[in-house]
Amino acid sequence: MDGDVGWGHRPPVVLRCPRCGANIDQPGPRADIDCPRCVAEFSHEDFPELEVEYFVCPVCGNQMEHGQRHPQAFDVPEWATCHNCRYHWEFKHSY
Ligand SMILES: [Zn+2]
Ligand SMILES: [Zn+2]
Repeated sequence: MDGDVGWGHRPPVVLRCPRCGANIDQPGPRADIDCPRCVAEFSHEDFPELEVEYFVCPVCGNQMEHGQRHPQAFDVPEWATCHNCRYHWEFKHSY
């Protein structure tokens, strides 16, 4: 199976700006989050407070499906999967 595990290998995401509703690209887990439309700026540490629109598959560029396995334990997505090329990312090993 093709994929990655761990936050450090997280695929790019598109977030929703809480001020203006624009989409913000975050190319990696440690990248700053700067809105292209308004003055909103966030650190990567603010990620859990922002709304994820979708993950971007690092292999084929498609939008990925994402979700949580333990919503009480984590406030970030724990998996993302690409239905086009079957790339899969996990926050951590499930075993
Ligand atoms: Zn904005
Ligand atoms: Zn893909």
